Amino acid sequence: MDEQNAVASAPSGNTLPNSAGALFQLFRDGTPRTRSDLTAMTGFARSTISARVEELLNAALIRPAGENSSTGGRPPSTFTVNPEARSVLAVDLGGTHARIAVTDLATRVLSERQQELDITKGPVAVLDAVGRIGLELLQEAGRSPEDLLGVGVGVPGPVEFATGRPMSPPIMPGWDHFDIPGHLRRWFPGPILVDNDVNAMALGEHAVAYPQVANMMFVKVATGIGSGIISDGRLQHGAQGAAGDLGHIATPDGDATPCTCGNSGCLEAVASGPAIAAQLRERGFDVPNHAAMLELVRSGDLEALRTVRQAGRQVGSVLAGCVNLLNPSVIVIGGVVSTAGEHFLAGIREAVYSRSLPLATQHLRIVASQTTARAGVLGASALVTGHGLSVENVNRLIG
Ligand SMILES: [Zn+2]
Repeated sequence: MDEQNAVASAPSGNTLPNSAGALFQLFRDGTPRTRSDLTAMTGFARSTISARVEELLNAALIRPAGENSSTGGRPPSTFTVNPEARSVLAVDLGGTHARIAVTDLATRVLSERQQELDITKGPVAVLDAVGRIGLELLQEAGRSPEDLLGVGVGVPGPVEFATGRPMSPPIMPGWDHFDIPGHLRRWFPGPILVDNDVNAMALGEHAVAYPQVANMMFVKVATGIGSGIISDGRLQHGAQGAAGDLGHIATPDGDATPCTCGNSGCLEAVASGPAIAAQLRERGFDVPNHAAMLELVRSGDLEALRTVRQAGRQVGSVLAGCVNLLNPSVIVIGGVVSTAGEHFLAGIREAVYSRSLPLATQHLRIVASQTTARAGVLGASALVTGHGLSVENVNRLIG
């Protein structure tokens, strides 16, 4: 197995609970902590804590965060994560565009570029462009490739997460089984992690807007429909990396609309952007694509609003099953169709709350994405920090 993407591989090396890497995890929620805080939280000897803090300071992974005078007398030093210790190259590849950014370890963007980049040009042309742009962005941010904790890449298709290779991606001709980490390693050292775009968006939204939420779903409704599932604080890939593929779940209403996958009545066939546009065309509207459909909705046309609300109900009827299975506390709706406004979200809420069990919806929030178009690139960054700042990897950095 390619070790670059092997986040969930068996632990090796130093993962001891009193190691510097383990202690570093206590800083990752962003709360400044003193040595006494750490002693109280872990129960380890004060001398052990002091030695580990020293190691983390020497590696610049934490830094002094001013004084904490709440205890009276000589104020104890507080420490916090140093987000500038390393940087991350984050890449969000779409069908026709790419967004590429250099971020710090707190997922803050240091330099960023949006660029037309046609995924159908194939992996070599696209990844060579990513390599060139990545180097330019590092320079703009005053960083070098050696500063990188790693590179995160989101792609618009299914990915075998363990190897970082796309698997029969429908809109990415030439990319099937391509070794993305292997190719990007010509430019960048360190781990190169690849995931599908919706999983990346889930991570991005989670890192920026819901870091304390352990159970969250991110649903993207655009040309296709997919979701990223965060359960017990971790992104769920499933056995082959196909978890979260909502688009091809049959809608409970048993609609017979044929789907691109060969089945009929899939959610994507009745509630995606192109599906909504097609329904409006059947009713005589001139909406050649889903951009035109969104414009019609925003103009306030009642028939268009009704159609979008009904599409929302279809999404909600499938999500109701997910709510019963996974019991998330937040469902974030993203993707371009979510920008159709409150009617789409209202349709989703209506179906979820009427079809899910009361206990599962008691504290459930269904909300629009806050990170919107940046979700994918922020998630590509979070993919790298999630992996690179693990107990084992921090111990390796300190090594
Ligand atoms: Zn389908």
